[in-house]
Amino acid sequence: MSTLRVSVVGDLKIVFEIRDSDLAGRIGRLKTRHGVLETPFLFPVVDPSLRKQVVPLDKIRDIGFNGIITNAYLLKKHVGLESNIHQYLGFDGVIMTDSGAYQILQYGTIDIENRAIVEYQCRIGSDIGVILDIPTRHDVTYEEALTSVEETLRRAEEVIDIVEECKSTLWVLPIQGGTYLDLLSRAARRACDLGMYSIYAIGSPTTLLERFELDRIVDMIYTVKSIVPSAKPIHLFGAGHPLVIPFVVALGVDLMDSASYILYARDDRYMTWRGTYKLEDLEYFPCNCPVCSRYSPKDLMEMPKHERVAKLAEHNLYVLIKELRSVKQAIREGRLWEYLEERAHSHPSAMRAFQKIKKYVELLYKHSPLSKSNITRAVYILSMDSVYNPKIMLARRRSIDRAVIKNKCIALIPLVPWDKPAYESQLYKRVLTCNRDLENRCDVYFYMPILGVVSVYLSERYPFSQFESVYDFDDRSIEDLCLLIIELVLRYTTLYDTIKLRMFISEGIPWSIKVAKLMLSKIYTLSDLKIDVEIESI
Ligand SMILES: [Zn+2]
Repeated sequence: MSTLRVSVVGDLKIVFEIRDSDLAGRIGRLKTRHGVLETPFLFPVVDPSLRKQVVPLDKIRDIGFNGIITNAYLLKKHVGLESNIHQYLGFDGVIMTDSGAYQILQYGTIDIENRAIVEYQCRIGSDIGVILDIPTRHDVTYEEALTSVEETLRRAEEVIDIVEECKSTLWVLPIQGGTYLDLLSRAARRACDLGMYSIYAIGSPTTLLERFELDRIVDMIYTVKSIVPSAKPIHLFGAGHPLVIPFVVALGVDLMDSASYILYARDDRYMTWRGTYKLEDLEYFPCNCPVCSRYSPKDLMEMPKHERVAKLAEHNLYVLIKELRSVKQAIREGRLWEYLEERAHSHPSAMRAFQKIKKYVELLYKHSPLSKSNITRAVYILSMDSVYNPKIMLARRRSIDRAVIKNKCIALIPLVPWDKPAYESQLYKRVLTCNRDLENRCDVYFYMPILGVVSVYLSERYPFSQFESVYDFDDRSIEDLCLLIIELVLRYTTLYDTIKLRMFISEGIPWSIKVAKLMLSKIYTLSDLKIDVEIESI
C-alpha cells in the first residue's frame, strides 16, 4: 500500500471557485480535503473491492485523474470497510462515494438506511458524499417520478444534521424528476433552499446517456441550471463518453462520473470523440496515447482477454482526459461555441444535442459577456450555426439596437471576409472614390451573412474585425441577413416618410449579388413604405 500524501485545505468555506467561463461552461476549482479538483472533471468509477479493478489507481492518477468515485454501499455491505477509505484504496487524491442509489436504480431497493449510509461516508472519510436518493428512472410515470422527487427531498432534510456536522465531506444532493421538467424544476427550487449541500447533482440520466439521447439531457441540464445559483457546482451522474462531454459542459455541468471506460473495454469497445468502435472493426488506432502508440488493434485482439480489457480501459481513460482538457482549452480561448459546432458534426446524436442547445441560447448568452478578456481571439464563422454563437448573436443585436440614424439614406457595403477591418478594405476605398460624399449623405453600414449589419463606426469593434470566416454562404444565411437589413430599414421608416437604400454589390463577392436580389423582392412586399432601392455594382 502506498504512503499517503494528504494535503489538507485550510479554508473549506469557499469550496468552489470559478476561474473562467464560456457559454454556460466554466473552469472551476473545487476544494476538498484531499486537494483541489479542477473542473470540469470526470470521476472514473472504481471497483470498491478492487478485485475487478483492471486499471490500477496509480495508473488512473498518472493518466491525469486526481479523483475517483466508488460505491459506499458496496464498501459497507460487501467489503465491510470500517477504516479510512484513502488508506484502504491506497489513493491520496479526491475520493467521492456514491450511496447506493445506482443499485436502487438497478434492483429497485437496497437494505440500508439513508442516515446510516450518510454517517458511514463521513466515518470512512469520503471527500465527497451523496445522500441515499431515490433516482427517477427514465421509464416511470409522472406519479412515480413525483414520489422520487419528494422522497429524495425528505431524505435530504432527514440528514441535515449530519451534513452540517460532517464538514470535512462535501455533500451532494441529487435533483430528481428525470425528463418531467416541471418536476425537475420544482425539485431544483426546493433543493436550493437546502443551501448546506455543496454540490447539486442531476439524477439519473444514465439510461439516456447510454442511449446517447443527448437532446433530452440538454433539456434536463438547462432546467436545473436555470434555477441553481452559479456558485454551486453541478454533477451529472453517468456522463462518461467523450462525445457527451463538450455538450454537457457547455450547459454548465462541472462534475461527471462514469464506469464507461471499463464497461466499454470489457465489451471490446474503443472510445473516440466521434463515437465508439468495436475493436475488431479497427485496422488502425486513431489515437496516440501510450497504448495506441505501442499496440495495433490486431495486437490487442491477440492478447488474453484480461490484458486486452486493461489496455482498452486505459485508452478509454486517455480519451476522456483528453476531451476534458480540450474542452477546458476551448473555454480558456472563448471558443466553446466553435468547438460544439465542430463536435456536432461527429455524430447524429451530437447534432441533435447541438440543435437543442441552440434553443437555449439565451442561457449561454447570459454567461458569455462580450467584455470578457478572452474575446481577443478571432471568432470562427463556419456555417449558419455560427449565428447562434452568443458572441455573434449579441454583437449583431447590439449593432442594430445602437444604430445612430442621421440620414434618410442607408448605404450598404459588403464586408469582405478576407479584407479587414472593413473601413480600410479595398472595396470600401473603391466605393468612396466613386462616391466622395457618401459618408455625409448616407449612414454607411457593412453587411455580411452571419455577422449581420454594422455601422462603419462600430465596424472595428469585436467581432466585426476579429473573425475568420468561410467565403460562401447558404441561402438560409442570406435570408437571415436580409431580415436583419429589413429590421434596420424599418427603424429608418419610423423617422422618415421616404428613405433611400443604396446597396453596393461586387462581382467578386457572389453572395452580395444574392443578398441584393433577395432584398429587392422583400422590399417589394413592403409596399406601403416608400423605400427607394438603388443597386450599384463596384
Ligand atoms: Zn489510445
